[in-house]
Amino acid sequence: MRIGLDFDNTIAIYDRVFHRYAQELGMPASVPATKHAVRAWFWDQPLGNTPWTELQGLVYGTKLHEAELGPGLEDFLRACQARGVAVSVISHKTRYPALGPKHDLRAAAQAFLEARGIVGELGVEPERVFFNDTREEKVARVASEGCVAFVDDLPGVFTEAGFPRQAQRLLLDRAGEVADVPPGVIPCADFAAVAMALWGAEG
Ligand SMILES: [Mg+2]
Repeated sequence: MRIGLDFDNTIAIYDRVFHRYAQELGMPASVPATKHAVRAWFWDQPLGNTPWTELQGLVYGTKLHEAELGPGLEDFLRACQARGVAVSVISHKTRYPALGPKHDLRAAAQAFLEARGIVGELGVEPERVFFNDTREEKVARVASEGCVAFVDDLPGVFTEAGFPRQAQRLLLDRAGEVADVPPGVIPCADFAAVAMALWGAEG
């Protein structure tokens, strides 16, 4: 049995990192420390999407080591190991940011996975980490890895045409802020809820 995990905002949580570096670009500290709130503030500014896109390049490229782990992720990965459940990391991540300096985003993510013991001690094999250029390629990988379940923070991943029909769809919605949860998708506030969805109370 194998399950798949998304990387950005599922394994690595950036809320506080975005909030910290957005203030260096003029965002007031009073904006709530969530990625959505920070993004909304940038989108309301006259320069629109560009500073937000550059901030993403900075955070995903050089500040990734400041990110936190998804809530309950370490315990969840230990539970997977105890059950003999294999885990693949399947991410939609281009090698370089869309704008700004050419940081290697995949190398940064790989280093994060190793530094936090996800690849290694917590059981994910290095050859089961996949960075994909498109969302289409990502869901094809969920299928080719034979995942019985996939965890992602974006509902659109589960409704992508190539998403494997039989795989369980677990939406990591930490703030309970996803308004339109697609049919068949189970919202989970943290990885304890993911474990509950997969294995029930005995998990
Ligand atoms: Mg994500």
